[in-house]
Order: sequence, then C-alpha cells, then structure tokens
Amino acid sequence: MSSTLGPPANGGQHKIFIVEHLDPELEQWSELEYKTIAEECHASGAQFWLTSVPPSLPLPKSLQDKQAEGFKVEQRGVEEIFAEKKETVCLLDPSATKELGPEDGKQFTVFLFGGILGDDPPRDRTSELRKKGFQGRRLGPVQMTTDTAVRVTRIVVQNGTPLDKIPYVDYPELKIDEHESTQMPFRYVATEKGEPVMPKGMRELIKLDSEKGFGELL
Ligand code: SAM
Repeated sequence: MSSTLGPPANGGQHKIFIVEHLDPELEQWSELEYKTIAEECHASGAQFWLTSVPPSLPLPKSLQDKQAEGFKVEQRGVEEIFAEKKETVCLLDPSATKELGPEDGKQFTVFLFGGILGDDPPRDRTSELRKKGFQGRRLGPVQMTTDTAVRVTRIVVQNGTPLDKIPYVDYPELKIDEHESTQMPFRYVATEKGEPVMPKGMRELIKLDSEKGFGELL
C-alpha cells in the first residue's frame, strides 16, 4: 500500500482517476475492471488510484503487478486525501444534473467513481460519495460499468470529445451458447463493429456466471 498519496502538486497537468472501492469484497468482475482501468490510464499518461481499500482485503496478484505501472492503492478514502482540495474533484454521478463536458477537463484534475458492481435496477450507491459534497457530473441517462464510466470520462476530458459524439451500445446481448444469451443492463463504448468494449476476460466470466446461474435452476 502506498502512503505517499496527496492532492496533485503539478498544477493539474496530469489527471487522476480514482475509484473509491465501496464493496466489502473485491470480486473477479471488479478485478478485471480495475486491471483494465489501470492499463488504459497508464497508456494515456493518467494515474489510477484505488482508494478505501481495507488492509484486510487481499489485492489479487494481477492488480499487485499493475502497481509498477503507476496504479496506486490507498487505505484512506478520497474525502480524507482531498479534504483541503475538494474543488479539484469531480464525482461522476448518475444523478447529477449537469452532464460532463470537455471544459470540465480544465476545471478538475481528479475524477472520482464509485467502485460498485452495477445492479439492475440501480440502487444509487453512488449516493455514499455524493454525501461527501464533491461536485457531480453525469455521463448521460444510462448506467455504465465502472470501467466504461472511466473510459468515457477520459475520452471527454483528455481527448475533448463531447459525450454525444462517442459511439455507444446499450444493453448488448451476449451469447452464452447456441440456445442461451444474456442481456447486459449497461451502456458500453462501441467498437467500429458495434461490439461493446469490455475488459479482457469479461465475456468468459459472464458466460461462466450465467452457466452457473442456469445450472442452479436445473
Ligand atoms: N448502480 C449504481 C449505483 O448504485 O450508483 C451505479 C454503479 S456504476 C456500475 C459505478 C460507477 O460508475 C458509479 O458510481 C459512477 O461513478 C459511474 N457511472 C456509471 N454510470 C454513470 C452515469 N450514467 N453517469 C455518471 N456516472 C456513472
């Protein structure tokens, strides 16, 4: 664990993307999402911090390896770390009244996300972060996975692309086998072929989980 994190002292040149881990466990789904966020942030020159990680929560090996690439893990919560610089932090909040825009890349240096697995219907657990008083921005009306929310935010604030110019695919159907498919209750960024962008290994994990689900019904 790093104990050297603090508000950025670089005048805001480098963006920091923070996921505040809000689940009691760190499930395989979150592991794949966090690993992808770490890789994409690193490739774009941004930092990725995972905050509020209790010492009792073992960090999977795949994430431990990412710490060499600028991914930082912190026991403290974002409220404590940024107590004196709250105005630099933008909370990505599905209930915010203002949409995120390229100009927010100039206003904020830190972008904060809830480390929560998506649920259907959404339970608004982002409210745990909203209560802390950070300014909020919405990424459109549809719930995204955490890695998608970070990806979309980066496209807007780092590339300057407005939200409505990003190609999306909503509620895609994933084939489990010849007979079964499962519908994902989220919005994803779309590839050129119209496929949802997902972490490596996520399709296989979804298939495995769905097969288990069908198995339990038998
Ligand atoms: N069901 C959720 C809840 O309880 O709030 C949404 C969780 S979502 C999987 C994880 C995080 O991604 C949220 O906490 C938020 O930071 C971000 N996020 C997802 N969709 C968003 C949207 N449409 N607008 C803003 N932020 C979003």
